[in-house]
Amino acid sequence: MTKPEHLLEVHDLDAAGKAYASPLEIAWVTRALDGCDVTPTGPGRVEVRFSRSGDDVVVRGRITQPLTAPCARCLGPATIDVDTELSLLLVPAASQKAAYARGRSGPPDDPRREETSPADADLDVYEGDHVALDGFVREAILLEVPPFPLCSASCPGIGAPPEAPVTTAGDIDPRLQPLLALSARLKKDGKD
Ligand SMILES: [Zn+2]
Repeated sequence: MTKPEHLLEVHDLDAAGKAYASPLEIAWVTRALDGCDVTPTGPGRVEVRFSRSGDDVVVRGRITQPLTAPCARCLGPATIDVDTELSLLLVPAASQKAAYARGRSGPPDDPRREETSPADADLDVYEGDHVALDGFVREAILLEVPPFPLCSASCPGIGAPPEAPVTTAGDIDPRLQPLLALSARLKKDGKD
């Protein structure tokens, strides 16, 4: 992705935290979802609260984004109204926790090892004075796109392909005509 547009200033962040809210412009969404089979139908919105917890930065909020994708049955437009939560736990990139997160595990018997459970926020890293939300917003939106989008639950689909037309001699390559004539003659001879 190009230069991030959704930056959280975490330099002087404290436990009380701050708020960040911004529209997700169509141009940004189009760029962010480039290569995915979805199209924004209007601007979305990201709204978060972020605060410091020790060295970590906690981000919680909501993302909305109207999209359309080709229906898996009829290829017509299927509406996807993304409305999802964003929940991040960002640890300093230089920290030991970050090293574990990157390796996905520390020594199993290490008491400092972070136990992860589905209830945990996603563990990611930040570096410097800013957290770029762009990649996280993109990921959160894509997670909400169903693998088989449908324009409606009762979409009948394109339907069975029409039956193959009955082949008549007229459709046959004229170069084959002598062979057909021979075949017909042989069949006729066989009957005699
Ligand atoms: Zn459909």
